[in-house]
Amino acid sequence: MVASKDPIPKICMFCQNLFEAQKSTTQYCSQKCAAKAYKVRKRQERNQEAQKENLEKLSAPIKTLQKREYISVEEAAIILGVSRWTVQRAIKQGKLESAKLLGRRIISQKSFKKFFKS
Ligand SMILES: [Zn+2]
Repeated sequence: MVASKDPIPKICMFCQNLFEAQKSTTQYCSQKCAAKAYKVRKRQERNQEAQKENLEKLSAPIKTLQKREYISVEEAAIILGVSRWTVQRAIKQGKLESAKLLGRRIISQKSFKKFFKS
């Protein structure tokens, strides 16, 4: 067998097996590995897109909340990513200023921001 170029020893990006490539750009030992790797890559791309969409869905309401002057304990918990009990504890300990409106506890964005500065 006479090759125009010396075969290049390579490790398959998919199965990790050692193989001899004719071109320096070859990444896979076989068509089979290339096809499988392509499938994996496509699946990862799809997953990443789904994750991105999820993140956007989750952060959209937070952005809306951050624009509001007053928020509820539950909403404050969503923004902070903590439980409502943690927010209520912070209120009880005087770390977070709040007011009561018809039995509902509300927090102003002002006190919310003050809390982060302290
Ligand atoms: Zn392979």
